[in-house]
Amino acid sequence: MKGIAILGSTGSIGCSTLEVLALHPERYRVVALGAWRRDELLFEQVSRFAPEFAVMADEAAAARLAARLRGTGSRTQVLAGAEALAGIAALASVEQVMCAIVGAAGLPSTLAAARAGKRILLANKEALVMAGELLLEAVRRGGGELLPIDSEHNAIFQCLPLGTRCGVAPSGLRRIILTGSGGPFRDWTQAQIDVATPAQAIRHPNWSMGPKISVDSATMMNKGLEVIEAHWLFGAPLELIQIVVHPQSVIHSMVEYADGSVVAQLGAPDMRTPIACALAFPERIESGAEPLDFTTLGALEFERLDALRFPCVALAREAIRRGGTAPAALNAANEIAVESFLAGRLAFTGIAQVIESVLGEVDVEPLVSVEQIYAADVEARALAARYIARLAPRASILTP
Ligand code: NAD
Ligand code: MG
Repeated sequence: MKGIAILGSTGSIGCSTLEVLALHPERYRVVALGAWRRDELLFEQVSRFAPEFAVMADEAAAARLAARLRGTGSRTQVLAGAEALAGIAALASVEQVMCAIVGAAGLPSTLAAARAGKRILLANKEALVMAGELLLEAVRRGGGELLPIDSEHNAIFQCLPLGTRCGVAPSGLRRIILTGSGGPFRDWTQAQIDVATPAQAIRHPNWSMGPKISVDSATMMNKGLEVIEAHWLFGAPLELIQIVVHPQSVIHSMVEYADGSVVAQLGAPDMRTPIACALAFPERIESGAEPLDFTTLGALEFERLDALRFPCVALAREAIRRGGTAPAALNAANEIAVESFLAGRLAFTGIAQVIESVLGEVDVEPLVSVEQIYAADVEARALAARYIARLAPRASILTP
């Protein structure tokens, strides 16, 4: 029985992970669950999976969860606070950690899992975007491993020769081709995108995901973050990582080799497939995802990404080219901008403007410590908030 901790268990990825684990009670034991503040859902998960620990980052939510569990006979210990999340990532009884917290909030616990030598199942792409080399170094030193959950990166991982080391490009690699659905605004005109609302932005055509990554998919910043993620995971130079828009989301990504071979991974757009792949690797287990039916699939289409309507990809490329603390600043500015957009305080097109402005203002330092990353994150958040406050009156006219 492998012991598993799920950080972000109440989110889209966390819930899908529990669905996969529920199919294999003889293989996996849920040792710990961690989330932010949805105590009602965590209570249900605790009742069903009976972990040893349940952590809520929010103290008041943790108190509510403990009160709900009292008198139920549950033996789950409830812990509170962000540090407790890092603590459960390093428990001796935990072999694998699903890092599925959204955003920069997931970095400390992901680093804790890396230092403790766990198998990290990485959904929290923002952690890798922010800390790149330092996170990989922590994985190497800790003696564990990192397997990607992001569907594109999990696909690429499956297309690489078995035994390829994390962060090292395989010989004969010619191109990594990241596919993306194009998001809900793929065929919208600029004028339509200018007045896009939060409800429209989170209505993804193929995938059901949390609100932040759904907006990232609408701006295509998600692909930008994924270029950075691929750069670190597969040790590939930026110019070898290309994006192609593929509206059906059936090919999850591809790798081209020097001999002209292109290896692709296909499947239904269902995150339970990459989750099951990483959990059991190198074995294969049931995920619960529907099989692909090629007789009803229809055409697979491919398009070029329109960099004018979707400027966030170029901003992400610029940040990783500048290196050091720039990707952390990009990520923080994006998080604040997305949050403001979802709250109706920023127009959709304001998201890219905020990020561009923050990248133009920050001083970029070469990375030597994690503390620098946290400092860059705080600075970029403050700059983004200030910029948004200046834009606010105009934005409120644009957003209903
Ligand atoms: P979500 O919003 O559905 O869930 C986020 C989870 O993080 C929740 O459990 C929440 O409690 C927790 N969380 C949020 N803020 C926290 C904080 N401050 N402290 C502790 N916990 C906190 O998000 P999601 O769609 O499941 O995405 C999770 C991560 O996986 C993101 O990094 C996303 O980019 C990545 N990812 C998601 C998908 C997908 O299909 N949903 C695909 C690829 C990658
Ligand atoms: Mg993805």
